[in-house]
Parts: sequence; C-alpha cells; structure tokens
Amino acid sequence: MQGPPILQSVLFEETGRPFWSQPALRNLLFLRGLPVEHPYIMTDPPEGLAGAVVLEPVILWDGQPRLLLVNPAASRLRVNASAAPRIALLRERDQFHFDDSLVFHVAIFHRPQIGPAPADKIGKPGPICLSPFTHEPNSVCYHCQCGTVLHLHEPSGLECARAVHRCPHCRQEISFKEGYSWLPKLDS
Ligand SMILES: [Zn+2]
Ligand SMILES: [Zn+2]
Repeated sequence: MQGPPILQSVLFEETGRPFWSQPALRNLLFLRGLPVEHPYIMTDPPEGLAGAVVLEPVILWDGQPRLLLVNPAASRLRVNASAAPRIALLRERDQFHFDDSLVFHVAIFHRPQIGPAPADKIGKPGPICLSPFTHEPNSVCYHCQCGTVLHLHEPSGLECARAVHRCPHCRQEISFKEGYSWLPKLDS
C-alpha cells in the first residue's frame, strides 16, 4: 500500500471525515447505483453518500493500474462474488456489485502518450538503450502510464519502444492504439 493517492485515501477514510475535502485527492468519481433508474458516475460528491461508492483510478508504486473503491455506506459490497471490506483495490477484469442489482466490470482504457522527453528526463539514460534523452526537436518518446519513458523515434535511429513489447518497469503491454485492453463479454 504505497503511493500517495492510496495512502492518503485510506488514511482519510480512517479519520471519518468526508473524502472529497482532502485537497491531495484528485480524480475521485462517485458511482451511484439504485434506486436511480440507471447507474451513473459523478465527479462531484452527491448529497449524502447513501447508495454510492467512491472510485479513484490509481497507479501503484510498481506502475500497475488499479481502481480504488471506497464504500462509505458499508453496504453489501461484493468483489468477484466475495464479501469485500469497505476499501478495496480492484484490478482489470474484477467484478463488483454493491446493491444486489447490477454487476460492474473493471476495464482499462489505454491512451498512448507520445511526445518529447519530459524535462526531468533530459540527460538521463533510457531504460533500454541507456542513451540519454535529449532536447533534440525531432526526438519522440513513448510515455508509459507508470512514468517510464522510452525512445520511439530518434534522429539517431533509436526506437526502443518498438523493440520491446512491454514496459521494462511495470510490464504493461506497449501499444500505439487507443482503446480497452479487455472488455467483458456480455450477453445482450
Ligand atoms: Zn532508448
Ligand atoms: Zn510502465
């Protein structure tokens, strides 16, 4: 349980104060299920959290994406059909439900981040080739969600992101296509 977002979320829960007044927390989502007609996600906290759970996409210290779920009302949260505590860390393909009606599936949408090397990487070695990142205007890099940067198109010919299939840090697959890496097969 490292990494600031998770740690802060958990600590905050234990204080018993509202989740959303913690300025260090960002990207909070509020999922409301029944009794409304359709479940929906809000970025602002609803009045009273009855019937809602709080979600926050987080990246673990080792780069793995997770969905932090906080169940403020301590309703009957079940993850993968097992009873879950008030705080759960979900991964891709997990299922959860919290009001005995709809089952939610956790999927991850990937959006490749491609661009120049960030300022804090300039002069530091790339993790594959150990050649330093440069200010070179024609230099293009692949940015993994975990913060790892790889050369993609370099005037020198380096294409490290194409040479490996997975990020050397978080092992996430390197893809240049935008989209979900997995979606549940649902009966229509
Ligand atoms: Zn490289
Ligand atoms: Zn990575």
